Amino acid sequence: MPQKQIYALPNIVSPANPVIFNPDICNGCNTCVEVCQIDVFIPNPEKGKPPVILHPDECWYGGCCVNHCPLPGAISFNWPVQQRAYWKDKATGKVLRDSQ
Ligand code: SF4
Ligand code: SF4
Repeated sequence: MPQKQIYALPNIVSPANPVIFNPDICNGCNTCVEVCQIDVFIPNPEKGKPPVILHPDECWYGGCCVNHCPLPGAISFNWPVQQRAYWKDKATGKVLRDSQ
């Protein structure tokens, strides 16, 4: 039976990057791929490597991928700037933003 070849192309137009993988910690278990109901990721074709972010714009920032990851630090949120907490230092007037 002939095998089908399937191509998946990341959305290169989008500057968004909803999560950041730490390749030193992530073992490519793909739990995050399985729990994401939006299919933002696909498994990395290289076994043991972090998943590929295929559709970053589809992310709802619900957190399943980060919360279900068994390895702390392997995946973290990269919140869009407008969703990050910020505050103003009364003394200096300087606006500070949460980096997470
Ligand atoms: S980020 Fe976590 S859940 Fe996702 S593949 Fe890596 S180790 Fe597995
Ligand atoms: S936050 Fe939710 S929608 Fe976004 S990548 Fe993680 S699991 Fe998928």
